[in-house]
Amino acid sequence: MGIPKEQIDRLIAESAEHQCAPPAETCVRLIAMADLPTRFGSYQVAAFRNPIDGKEHAAFVHGNVVDAERVPVRLHSECLTGDAIGSLRCDCRDQLQEALTMIGNKMERGIVLYLRQEGRGIGFTNKIRAYALQDAGYDTVQANELLGFRPDERDYGVAAHMLHSLHVRSIRIMTNNPSKIADLTRHGISIVGRIPMSVALNEHNRQYLEVKRKKLGHLLDIEQTDDLVEVPARSAARSTE
Ligand SMILES: [Zn+2]
Ligand SMILES: [Zn+2]
Repeated sequence: MGIPKEQIDRLIAESAEHQCAPPAETCVRLIAMADLPTRFGSYQVAAFRNPIDGKEHAAFVHGNVVDAERVPVRLHSECLTGDAIGSLRCDCRDQLQEALTMIGNKMERGIVLYLRQEGRGIGFTNKIRAYALQDAGYDTVQANELLGFRPDERDYGVAAHMLHSLHVRSIRIMTNNPSKIADLTRHGISIVGRIPMSVALNEHNRQYLEVKRKKLGHLLDIEQTDDLVEVPARSAARSTE
């Protein structure tokens, strides 16, 4: 069972009046929500819009997450080539499908936040320029630096705000990337556990994943159990207000 319609209407009404005070750049409003049956189980899809930059973001919600504790949450950054086309240059689609399958089939509730920040935040065109540099022999981190970007330009403020807008009290984050834990905590999210993700290696992404592990600190080899990260419970107060 998902979020009941009356509760959705209340969240949308609350969002309609909401605006983070300037100079905030990462405000979002919940605009609409609808049922979304998928091949990964029953979901509801939530449409968010940032009133400042106009960017749209999505949350795929399974079960009722409003006011819930210990909600499994996967942050997914949009990857057109991987998610939609099945590119083997990255593991985005595998990770997205694994998260949707885990949540939709095995869990009482959970959320996949789909963030519109293509190419680790550098944008689609720059991601393809970075691919071209990699084709010429540079690794993913070197390529981004050559284009003048930091290795990871993503900002988790939008993700944190989406969770606040859905009144999620605490989460168990589905990730192998410890920087996501620190970033979300900094934005006022209470993280009470971590659910590790498995990784599908192939001949095209092996080098990319190896760089991710060595240079970006991903925990690809380490077996970890749920509730590795114990963070003291914090109030669900909005850091953005
Ligand atoms: Zn806001
Ligand atoms: Zn990708």
